[in-house]
Amino acid sequence: MEAGLPDSGIIPDALTALTARARDDLARISHPRMPWLEPRVGPDGAAALDVLVVGGGQSGLGIASALLRAQVTNILVVDRAPRGLEGPWLTFARMRTLRSPKDYTGPDLDLPSLGYQAWHEAVYGPAHWQSLDQILREDWAAYLGWVRDTVGVPVRNETVVVDIAPAPGGLLAAILRDAGGESVRYARKIVLATGQDGAGEWWMPEFVRALPTHLRAHAADEIDFAALRGKRVAVLGAGASAFDNAAMALEAGAAAVTLYCRRAEPQVIQPYRWLTFAGFLRHLSELDDAWRWRFMSHVLGLREGFPQPTYDRCAAHAGFTLQSGAPWLSARVGEAGQVEIETPRGPAVADFLICGTGVEMDFARRPELARVAHNIARWSDRYTPPEEERDDRLARFPYLAADYSLLPRVEGETEWMADIHLFNIAATMSFGPSGSSINAMTTAVPKLVHGLTRGLFTADLDRHWATLKAYDVPQAVVR
Ligand SMILES: Cc1cc2nc3c(=O)[nH]c(=O)nc-3n(C[C@H](O)[C@H](O)[C@H](O)COP(=O)(O)OP(=O)(O)OC[C@H]3O[C@@H](n4cnc5c(N)ncnc54)[C@H](O)[C@@H]3O)c2cc1C
Repeated sequence: MEAGLPDSGIIPDALTALTARARDDLARISHPRMPWLEPRVGPDGAAALDVLVVGGGQSGLGIASALLRAQVTNILVVDRAPRGLEGPWLTFARMRTLRSPKDYTGPDLDLPSLGYQAWHEAVYGPAHWQSLDQILREDWAAYLGWVRDTVGVPVRNETVVVDIAPAPGGLLAAILRDAGGESVRYARKIVLATGQDGAGEWWMPEFVRALPTHLRAHAADEIDFAALRGKRVAVLGAGASAFDNAAMALEAGAAAVTLYCRRAEPQVIQPYRWLTFAGFLRHLSELDDAWRWRFMSHVLGLREGFPQPTYDRCAAHAGFTLQSGAPWLSARVGEAGQVEIETPRGPAVADFLICGTGVEMDFARRPELARVAHNIARWSDRYTPPEEERDDRLARFPYLAADYSLLPRVEGETEWMADIHLFNIAATMSFGPSGSSINAMTTAVPKLVHGLTRGLFTADLDRHWATLKAYDVPQAVVR
């Protein structure tokens, strides 16, 4: 497979050399390299996958890399997006640079030659890395493409998993849809590395959703910003994405952009900075429910604060206003076709609304989870927090097993879902930052893959016992 910047067609020598070094490093750490899995035969007579990974973003690539390192090679990653457009980076991520510090490692899984810094130095030179403030999101996307090729992760793009069902022989049947139609792939295990909305949907208030689509969007939607030139834009939410979308509208020439912050004061603390230390990232998931809930409901209750450059990008425009303590109470189409919004601070009018309002857990909305949605255990099924820590939104997060697999609400029903492992944002209440988080990849991906290999190994104990008893390879000759 050829390395290089996916779209430029240029293959700088330094990057070619780095690719070779990274592959050599991978070979050097491939102990124990003995194959240990035998493919199960699916109902179609073909070899079933050991693991199907849904989602070829950074998490899916990291998981597949870790599986390959563990000699779990009979795997496939699928992604609905075309190659290079996985995840948010080149679509709806509208910040100029990543918000996380440039030295956070992740998809490299602690192999320096596969890290972002090594890629950046190869492409732009070491001095450029030294002077770099934060990573351009286009570079992050290009880097992920390089990791994919360098490791040799098998990815099928433009392929959507539209259904997961139980299949004979303890297998799962994944229905894949691509341009050619639908097909089935059988797998022993399926990992859903499906990103921020992977266990629900991007959320907006019902009265906004009810508006015609030419008047409103979610921050994760495709938005024609050029069409907002000269318009009044109202943005709901004061997280980083809300600010990014406000900035895009301002830069496109919107006449006025008002950002409505629901809280009395905008949230400027970034709790993810506090928690990015090894103790928390490694061991939160081992704590009892009370402690996990206490920490994570506090963190996710605060939500993520926006960085200074994100704010400054908006504040640089005279047309920008930040309204605090101003949730939207209602919105309707006025007589002139504009949107009339009610807030506790009085009415407002806008030509276009953008909701930077995050995600909502709603398993039934995801086709791949539809068959088990009713029986996925949620935190509300397993733990009742003290009244002062109550949070109904977070109580809807799934309560996952130690290997990130789904647990049943009703024991004995849909038992096959124990082979579906969730590594998207929904894992966050059970594990802390894990799925959908760069800062946790180097701790969380190995933990997930440990759970996957444990399950694959223990399910094959009879075969391993039989091969041990039949093992007759002499190591020496006694003369
Ligand atoms: C706008 C934005 C900005 C962010 N900025 C930062 C940042 O600066 N720093 C940071 O540390 N984190 C950031 N994050 C958080 C996190 O790093 C990203 O969400 C990151 O993309 C998570 O990677 P992932 O692989 O888990 O999910 P994603 O990158 O979202 O990948 C999931 C993939 O799953 C695919 N998929 C989903 N469902 C299916 C299906 N049924 N069938 C097939 N494919 C499917 C999607 O097409 C997608 O490509 C940001 C998140 C967002 C949304």
